[in-house]
Amino acid sequence: MNYNKKTVKDVDVAGKKVLLRCDFNVPQDKKTGAITSDKRIVAALPTIRYLLNHGAAVIACSHLGKPAATFETYVKKQVEKGKNQADITREDWEKSLKKLTLAPVAKRLSELLGQEVIFATDVVGADAQAKAAALQPGQILLLENTRFEKGETKNDPALAKAMADMAELYVSDAFGAVHRAHASTAGVAAYLPAVSGLLIEKELRVLGGAISDPKRPLVAILGGSKVSSKIGVINNLLDIADTIIIGGGMAYTFAAAQGGSVGNSLLEKDWESYALDMVEKAKAKGVKLLLPVDTVAADNYAPDANTQIVPTRAIPDGWEGLDIGPETTAAYCAAVADAGTVIWNGPMGVFEFPTFAKGTEAVAEALSKTGAITIIGGGDSAAAVEQLGYADKMTHISTGGGASLEFLEGKELPGVACLLDQ
Ligand code: ADP
Ligand code: MG
Repeated sequence: MNYNKKTVKDVDVAGKKVLLRCDFNVPQDKKTGAITSDKRIVAALPTIRYLLNHGAAVIACSHLGKPAATFETYVKKQVEKGKNQADITREDWEKSLKKLTLAPVAKRLSELLGQEVIFATDVVGADAQAKAAALQPGQILLLENTRFEKGETKNDPALAKAMADMAELYVSDAFGAVHRAHASTAGVAAYLPAVSGLLIEKELRVLGGAISDPKRPLVAILGGSKVSSKIGVINNLLDIADTIIIGGGMAYTFAAAQGGSVGNSLLEKDWESYALDMVEKAKAKGVKLLLPVDTVAADNYAPDANTQIVPTRAIPDGWEGLDIGPETTAAYCAAVADAGTVIWNGPMGVFEFPTFAKGTEAVAEALSKTGAITIIGGGDSAAAVEQLGYADKMTHISTGGGASLEFLEGKELPGVACLLDQ
């Protein structure tokens, strides 16, 4: 895939109406609907400010959550959840949509920008059309949740065209959504010149650079819960990396495959032969593959469990590995010390419990001290690095969980592929 895409800086935006796809899929309090983190809104500010300061009229849009775009899909979902079909009313559906309005995002965005954010109560309906038509350079309009339109997730050309018709240029800055071919993330690019915003520009520059022309040695640290969810990443990185470090729950499938006993640790039996294939592939390619030699085992999946340090391939019955052990931790930290680039995806242990966060924390600290380019991809890995206080010490923390995974798998991202090449 070509990562070298035109950006807002390569085109003239002055006097133009710009359709800007943002990632305003913010976390909300389940009860009150209040925005619990405005990180994603803050992340969109540089591109919004750039466009406004350069004389564009900005028509911003985003999805929020997973609304049922029609009453029929709402009923279907509720029945799947075990509700009685006869009890489901249109009112319930309308209430469920109200919870996913972007109106609170418009309010927060306006506070952060220090200027009015006009809000349209629909995506391509009469309100959006009228407000977009009246929009002046330097003004910003936010459309309602794109997923309120049933054509959004189906990448319906009619919806894409209706959105595109309101503007003269499309700017994509929603890296968290580029792995989806939806009307607002990819479809619109068929009808408008399409370039990246500053957020995606950085993602492509840093992640794309690490994959296509890394400063070597390139060390990939892979952890998290399951081998099965990281197969594509391991496979792709085996062709690119110099060293691959395995931690987290997936390590026990490797240990079991190599004849070890792993007690109650996370184990995906069906993936054992795959793990052995990976070990062989690494050998054949001359990639250093580091597996944990010791483990912090717990007698229970709980923050206050009893623990002992045991060899990863000899975990006693009734115990489960929840973190890498001290010998492994030291070896992994040493491996990143002289790296040129480090890509980290997946925590080393159950970092949500402080007792089992030590491996992840030590690796984060080692990354903060190396001179290497350090890149964090994956939602939980980003959360771990932030929670442990190392976020500002990394070169780049990807803003797209699923998107960064697909990027590392070497997959083509529809929301990137649709942008104009440099
Ligand atoms: P990411 O979102 O960064 O791609 P994953 O979703 O693959 O990461 O994995 C994150 C989860 O893996 C965390 O919730 C963590 O608790 C879990 N995990 C890590 N190590 C273990 C382990 N040894 N046993 C069980 N779960 C683990
Ligand atoms: Mg995750």
